[in-house]
Amino acid sequence: MFGFIGLGQMGLPIALNLLESGRGPVRVHNRTASKAAKLIEKGATLAASPAEVAAPGGIVFTMLSDDRAVEDVVLGEDGILQRLGPEGVHVSMSTIGPATARRLAELHEQRACAYLAAPVFGRPDAAAARKLWICLSGAPGAKARVEPILRHLGQGVFDFGEDAGAAHVAKLAGNFLIGAAMEAIAEAVVLVEKSGVDRVKVIDMLADTLFNCPVYRNYGKAIAADRAAPVGFKLALGRKDLELVLQAAGAVQTPMPLADLVRDRLLAGLAKGRAEMDWSMLSLGAAEDAGLKPAAARRE
Ligand code: NAP
Repeated sequence: MFGFIGLGQMGLPIALNLLESGRGPVRVHNRTASKAAKLIEKGATLAASPAEVAAPGGIVFTMLSDDRAVEDVVLGEDGILQRLGPEGVHVSMSTIGPATARRLAELHEQRACAYLAAPVFGRPDAAAARKLWICLSGAPGAKARVEPILRHLGQGVFDFGEDAGAAHVAKLAGNFLIGAAMEAIAEAVVLVEKSGVDRVKVIDMLADTLFNCPVYRNYGKAIAADRAAPVGFKLALGRKDLELVLQAAGAVQTPMPLADLVRDRLLAGLAKGRAEMDWSMLSLGAAEDAGLKPAAARRE
């Protein structure tokens, strides 16, 4: 028996893949119950509360917005810790801070169950195609039990050891790098456009040569084309991640001036009403600074 909580852009396709893997029955819960419809149609059971999703000794996946949501779903009156019990495993796939993860891991341990950190790289289309890259950390026994399932849900699993915070640090480091790359791309694109050169052509060239990697290819092309849709990762969640990066950096006395800059770009995006846009639209900031009104801003 598996449980799955959080059926947003990422959770829904992952839960569908889990269900379709035929590894066992799946019970699901989402704050907004209607989002479970597709899963119920395919045979999942709807649970009225997070606790009801958890079977004693079972495996529960969570894929929720932020630290607060994960804490609510785990520790609340109807939280999964009420039922998970000895040998139970909570696979926590959300992007949250390492300090929260370590605290949760301790609380799980007190109840003889395990918290496994399993945050992911890849957008909703990658989740649907089982192409996620999954960072993993936590207790060895729980990892051995869950790893084959994670391998089914993604294209690779990277083990960062026993510290429940470690996989989350790895994930945050990656999202910081993506944010910094997008800011750099945005600035380069503005330079090119204001110099009268074709921005799409320049980014196409760079993404096919020196910067031939998914971040430059996908986000680079989206930024050059001012492509605001589809929204894979909301700007509001990107801001949350950069705040988490800075908190984690502060905890280990590591100045990250570039993370500060990217966080401020995202914060400015929120202030301008762009919370629901894709986070690549932080690029509008560099354009606006240079007096450009790009297509995406004209559509607002
Ligand atoms: P999303 O579409 O906004 O979904 C968020 C989920 O969290 C929904 O199920 C939502 O329930 C639930 N939720 C939020 N606050 C809650 C609360 N207080 N109590 C209970 N449930 C709550 O977000 P997403 O894009 O799937 O992202 C989920 C996680 O994956 C985030 O940590 C994100 O940073 C990470 N991530 C996202 C991507 C991406 O490309 N989207 C990639 C990698 C990692 P409702 O449906 O009721 O709102």
